[in-house]
This record gives sequence, C-alpha cells and structure tokens, in this order.
Amino acid sequence: MTTTGKTNLLDLDRQGLRAFFAQLGEKPYRADQVMKWIYHRLENDFERMTDLGKSLRNRLAEVACVGPPNILHEKGSTDGTHKWLLGMDGGNAIETVYIPEPTRGTLCVSSQVGCALNCTFCSTATQGFNRNLSTAEIIGQVWVAARHLGNVPHQQRRITNVVMMGMGEPLMNFDSVVAAMNLMRDDLGFGLASKRVTLSTSGLVPQIDKLSEVVDVSLAVSLHAPTDELRSTLVPINRKYPIDELLAACKRYVELRPRASVTFEYTLMKGINDHPDHARKLVRLMRRLPSKVNLIPFNPFPGTRYERSDPEVIEDFRRILNNAGVIATVRRTRGDDIDAACGQLKGQVLDRTRRSATFRKQMHEESTHAA
Ligand code: SAH
Repeated sequence: MTTTGKTNLLDLDRQGLRAFFAQLGEKPYRADQVMKWIYHRLENDFERMTDLGKSLRNRLAEVACVGPPNILHEKGSTDGTHKWLLGMDGGNAIETVYIPEPTRGTLCVSSQVGCALNCTFCSTATQGFNRNLSTAEIIGQVWVAARHLGNVPHQQRRITNVVMMGMGEPLMNFDSVVAAMNLMRDDLGFGLASKRVTLSTSGLVPQIDKLSEVVDVSLAVSLHAPTDELRSTLVPINRKYPIDELLAACKRYVELRPRASVTFEYTLMKGINDHPDHARKLVRLMRRLPSKVNLIPFNPFPGTRYERSDPEVIEDFRRILNNAGVIATVRRTRGDDIDAACGQLKGQVLDRTRRSATFRKQMHEESTHAA
C-alpha cells in the first residue's frame, strides 16, 4: 500500500500480482498482461495499457498504481557510469548505479536506507541505518534505470546484470529482496538469467542457508581477510559468524544450487590486508570450495582511515592467487569521479542508530589530534 491507499503493483511479484487480480475478480492472465506492460514496455499509466478493456483500466486506476521512486538527482561519469539519487520517504534517499561495459551493462541496486552492519571501510556504514526498502523501492530502481536507458527485455537489453551491491545488507531485508529478485528473473519481468543476478552479503550464515531454499542467484561474499582476527576488525558480523562457518554455508549453497556460483570479494587496503602472506592464507581457504576471488582496490571517502593498496601490491596479490590455481580478477574502479564506486554510495540517511553522530565525533577527534 502507498500513502494514497492504493496498492503499488511494483510491490508484487507474479504470484502476488495474480492474487491481487483474483481479489478484483479477474483472471490470472490479466496479471501477466499487466506485468508485460510494466516490465517490458516500462509503462506506468494504466490508461495506455490498451489490451485491458476500459472498465478494468478504470478500476486499476482507482485501487492501484505503478509507483517507482522519485529521481532527486542524477549524474553521469566520464566513463559512462550513471548514478541516480532516488528519494524515499521523509528525507531519505538511496543510490543506484549503472556501469556499462563492452559486453554487458550492470546495475548496482540498494536494499536498505543505510546499513546496520558497521563495516569499518564502507562509507554507507558511517551514515547509520534507517529502514529496509520495500520490494517496489528495490525493483523500482531497476525500472527507473531501464526506462532511462531504453532497456527492452529479450531485445535491446541495456541492463544484462543486476548486483545487489548498493547501500545496505540485502540478507537483512530478506523477503523484499527475494521478491524483487523474482521480478528481475521472471520472463514477464526483466527476464534475467539467475546467474546474472548477484546478491552480495557480508556473511549472514542462517540467511545464506535460507536463500538456498528459494533461489539460485549468484552469491558474492564480502570476505576481505583470511583470518578471523583481522576480519572481525573489518566486518564486525564476523564475530557472530566466523570464517569457518561462513565458508561452510557457501559450500552448502553451491552444493544445493549447482548452477549458482560463489565469488569472494576482497577489498585491498594498504598495510591492512594486502601482504603476500594474506594472499597465501587466502589460497588455503579457497581450496575448500569451488569459487572465485574478486579483488577490489579500496575506494576512499572523506574521513576514512584506510588507503588503497599500490597497483604493484594488488598485482602481486593477484599473481599469488592465480599461481596457486585460484581464479582472481581485479575489479576495475568505475565512476569514482561521481562517488559511485564500491563503498562510496551515501544517499541520505536519517540515522536511527546514532552511528553517524559517533562517526562525525571520531572524525573530529582525529582531525584535532592531527592538528
Ligand atoms: N552489504 C553487502 C553489499 C555491499 S557493497 C556486502 O557487504 O556484501 C559491495 C562490496 O563493496 C562489498 O564487498 C563491500 O565490502 C565492498 N566495499 C565497501 N566499502 C568499500 C570501499 N570503500 N572500497 C571498496 N570496496 C568496498
């Protein structure tokens, strides 16, 4: 429901939409027709859904809407990356980023306003947390970008991949994220193959198991360190779900979902986790399950105490992994001129956790000590 009392159809996956039409006394195929209008033709005006019959169109206009998020601001990078700031309720806003590459176009989507997990090297964490996004607010990001790009599912596909790597921890917003991923993968939705939809998580073990029961999307796991001691300082949720348990859950995921893949994300920070010894320890961990490593050069943001590793160090790190037979790639930094690179998304968060105040205080203390 929206504030206008109308049902936002973007909140419903195919099953939900069919149930909604059944309630209206309509046949299920009407739901399918409406889905095609929404996701294939990117139409949000019932009046233009011309194969629906006048009375149904009027009825829909009374009780429902197709309500994507408002675009507050958008910005293009010199490298073709495009970023949207989308308004949510109150003063909240989230960010969505499109990254074009020669053979694919990836949309990076947010799942929460802010994040509650407090990873020490991520700018979203410094802003605290407000709330989960609804299904409409998640799939609405794809809808807004698709409309801007002239995306036509099955024909002119500008968005070939979606990664849940924007603001927020997607597995903390399980049901809405799963429904939105259903719409991304549904033929009547955006029609993406499951492996082209990637969920990135900081490593919530029970939810990884729960995910394997419902979808076979690609899994990306934010590892960032080869030992519990170090990982707990970077990704605090590691204290609850240490590396052994996390890797076991990833192994169960690929065993249950043989078509899915697991990638481990490893952000390289100077002098923190980029020593050859870390690489060798990582190799040993990677022997436990079929997986790939994605090395991410750290993206700085105001107030951070971390720095990006030097290019030679990143190259050496990758070489150690490759030489040991571990598939490792370095993620190219995109859109950093518009603060759209990994870990730079900020949006606008009305913090309910007081974390942003603590961060500002810390920054202030550090700068006065430095002075
Ligand atoms: N909450 C999810 C999605 C986060 S964003 C998760 O934790 O996986 C996607 C990736 O960017 C994560 O691996 C995250 O750890 C990484 N990241 C966060 N801040 C970063 C920064 N400043 N530089 C580089 N990568 C960063």
